[in-house]
Amino acid sequence: MKSLTCQSCGLPFSKKFRGTNKDLSKNSDYCLNCFKDGTFTNHQLNIQDMEKKLLEMARHHDGLTLEEAQQTIKILPDLKRWKMTHIL
Ligand SMILES: [Zn+2]
Repeated sequence: MKSLTCQSCGLPFSKKFRGTNKDLSKNSDYCLNCFKDGTFTNHQLNIQDMEKKLLEMARHHDGLTLEEAQQTIKILPDLKRWKMTHIL
């Protein structure tokens, strides 16, 4: 199964964990953690919060290593969500 990269958290996710649009179709840009029913699950989140969240996950060994978290943080500014001047 080809894994996708979430355009919000920068983490790889499988097809099964694609986010959902308002019409319940799948959204391949975002993972289900970040995007559900056509909207971001956490609107208030900014890029700094996302960095903290990734480091926090690494600290708790929640799916990624510290190195992976740091790699992911590097790509965050290039992701669709953070490229936008105005967040949904
Ligand atoms: Zn995500």
